[in-house]
Amino acid sequence: MAKLSTVAKLLRDLVALPSINPAFLPNEPELTGEERVASYLIDHARKQGLEISRQNVLPERKNLFVRLKPSRKVKRRIILAPHLDVVPAEDKQFTPNVKNGRLHGRGACDTKGSVAAFFHALLELTKDKNRPAETEILFVGLVDEEYGQTGSRIFGERGPKADLAIAGEPTQLQVVTAHKGNLWLRFETRGKAAHGATPHLGKSAIHEMARITETLLTEYADQLKKRKHSLLGHPSINIGTIQGGSQTNVVPERCSIEIDRRTLPGETEKSVYEEINRILAKRKQKVVNARESRGVPCPPLETDPELPVVRQFLKAAKRRKSKGVDYFTDASPIAMGGTPAIVFGPGDIAQAHSSDEWIDLKQLEQATSIILRFLKEQP
Ligand SMILES: [Zn+2]
Repeated sequence: MAKLSTVAKLLRDLVALPSINPAFLPNEPELTGEERVASYLIDHARKQGLEISRQNVLPERKNLFVRLKPSRKVKRRIILAPHLDVVPAEDKQFTPNVKNGRLHGRGACDTKGSVAAFFHALLELTKDKNRPAETEILFVGLVDEEYGQTGSRIFGERGPKADLAIAGEPTQLQVVTAHKGNLWLRFETRGKAAHGATPHLGKSAIHEMARITETLLTEYADQLKKRKHSLLGHPSINIGTIQGGSQTNVVPERCSIEIDRRTLPGETEKSVYEEINRILAKRKQKVVNARESRGVPCPPLETDPELPVVRQFLKAAKRRKSKGVDYFTDASPIAMGGTPAIVFGPGDIAQAHSSDEWIDLKQLEQATSIILRFLKEQP
C-alpha cells in the first residue's frame, strides 16, 4: 500500500472522530456533535502557535476559529470555512478505509476532505517564512451545516467580515460562485365538510388542492423552465408532501402541501408568491393559507466572478471560469453578512450522504495545493 500523505493522514484521523449533526440523532453523545473534531484541530493548531477562539452557536456547539495573523497591520482577510458536522452513518463508516487511492468513510468528501485540505494548507503556510505580511487567514470550522446552517448564519451575522470566504464542499475542485436558493412554502385549501354519502352538500379541499398541484407542476413548472441563469440553468419546483382529509366517509375540509422551490438570483419569496398567485387566480384556484415553512432564509448565492480576489482564486485553481451548483451551502449565509463567498473543495457531491462515501486522495492533495498557492499570493 502506498504511503499516506500528511493531509491524507489528517483526513483519516478526522473521519475516525464521529461528528453526526445531533439534530438527526438526539441523545447519542458518543456519535454526535462537532467537539471531538474541534478539539483535535485545536491540539494541532496550538502546536503551531496559532491563535484559537470560539463562537457560541447552539448549546455545547461552537464554531472554531483558528487565526494566522500577519506580521504587519491587517489589510486583507481570507476566510476558509468548511463545516465540521456530518450526516448519520453506520458505525463502520467511522472506521476510515484506504483502498485504490480512495479514502472511504463518513465525511470523507462532505466535508472533512475540505477541513483537512484547508487546515493542512494553513499549517503549511504557518511554517513558511515568506507568508503574507498583511493578510490574516481565518480558518472557521462551522457547526450545523447539515441541518439548519446555524453556524454559518451566526458567523455571517456576527463574525468578522473578509475580502473572501471559501466555503468547503465537494465541488471536484471547481470554483463555484453561484448556487440556487431554497424556499419552502406551505399552502392550504379549505373546503366544506359533509357526510361522505352526500358529497354534493360539501366542498372537497382535496379536489381543490389536486387542481392546484396540477397547475403548479405543469403550467407553472413550464414557466420556470423558460427562465435561465448562465451558471444555474432554470429554477425548479417540487411538491414534497400532501396531507388532507380526516376520514374516508367525510368530505375533506382541509388539505395542505409543502413546496420546495429552488430559486435563482433575483427571485425572492415575494416574487414567487406573486407569480404563483397570478397563475392560480387566472384559473380561479384559491389557496387560503400560504406561508414560508422553513423559518430561515436560504437565498441564492451569486458572487461576481470578476472580483479581483475571485479571479486570483480561479487562477490558483487553474480554472478559466467559475461554475454554479444546485445545492444550498454555507456560502449563502456568509455572503448575506457581506463577505463575498465562493464554494470549493475536493471530492464529488455524488458521494456525499451515501452509504459508501469516499474521496479521491489525489484530489485531496490538489485541493491543498490550490489553497496554499492562493494564500501565498496574498499581500
Ligand atoms: Zn452534506
